[in-house]
Amino acid sequence: MKKCPFCAEEIQETAVKCKHCGEFLIDAELKKLKSTSGVEWYYKTPMVILWVLLLGPFALSFILKNPQYSNAQKTTWTIVTFVYTALITLILIGVIIFYFWIIGRIATHGL
Ligand SMILES: [Zn+2]
Repeated sequence: MKKCPFCAEEIQETAVKCKHCGEFLIDAELKKLKSTSGVEWYYKTPMVILWVLLLGPFALSFILKNPQYSNAQKTTWTIVTFVYTALITLILIGVIIFYFWIIGRIATHGL
């Protein structure tokens, strides 16, 4: 015996339709399966990390539309993405400034 998820009455383990409220239990089982393992591959956490690393702020669409994340998790991911993007941008600017500094030194002093 198990409990019907709709009316909480006792029903047969193999029941497809609840005899008390008439709800189909197959749908409930399917929904349960979908909510736990039915997340698309590109929404899984390792993939989301990869998207952030590769796409930076463009990965936000994968985060904000992700059905497996709560609002708090989405906020955390968004902050992480922006911090990562800011760091990459700063490093890039640093590299460019360093490059021109080297070029300038070579131009004035030679190698
Ligand atoms: Zn029922």
